[in-house]
Amino acid sequence: MKFLNKIFMLILIFTLINFQKSFPINDGQTKKYVYLTFDDGPTCKNTPLLLDKLKELSLPATFFVVGKLVNENPEVLKRIVKENHSIGLHTMSHNKNKCYSSHENFIEENLELQKLLQKDFNVNTKIIRFPFGSQNSYLKMDKIFLDKLHKNNFKIYDWHIDTLDAINPQNSPETILQICKNQYKKRFENNKNLIILMHTNSNNINTINSLKLIKDYFLDLGYEFNTLNENTRELFYIK
Ligand SMILES: [Zn+2]
Repeated sequence: MKFLNKIFMLILIFTLINFQKSFPINDGQTKKYVYLTFDDGPTCKNTPLLLDKLKELSLPATFFVVGKLVNENPEVLKRIVKENHSIGLHTMSHNKNKCYSSHENFIEENLELQKLLQKDFNVNTKIIRFPFGSQNSYLKMDKIFLDKLHKNNFKIYDWHIDTLDAINPQNSPETILQICKNQYKKRFENNKNLIILMHTNSNNINTINSLKLIKDYFLDLGYEFNTLNENTRELFYIK
């Protein structure tokens, strides 16, 4: 009997060792990803320069685009799609008084943009970024608002790291990297997914110049670069 118990224990240990190999702890994700996200495009000069740099560095990215700018710069949008970056929704107007006047107006602006992207560019996207984030000062996302968005099949993505390039576009590339490092070390060193907020406004030239530094820093830490899509786990904060 003791002998059988020993055999049983050995089989159990062997099974557990193999189970851990095939299903690593930490919800099964073995790789670590950085998602570079660029809001507020497509702009006519900055976005093409940004696309050149992304191509040179072989970096994939996600663009949360504004409908009125898509209408103004359709060729730039086409280039983003052609170069295999992903596209997300960032309202039609980016006007806080319009898009945040009610839940319904916010949803309507994003549905309109979704249709525009489908019809004119054959792009299907469900991923959304709130202008100024889901906890903006105008219409914060709460559970009721979230349920309405999910009923429309939207997926919501805020960010982990804010490069602060919207409020301080003049920061040097080195400063932008330092801001990323500081936030990463303070709160996200154990994260397997990192979403970084950046912008492609006309004054965001140093954002483009920071990309090589950011790439090298996170590659050294074992991260790969990836694009957001509707299957990426959502990231939002709730009131
Ligand atoms: Zn924005």
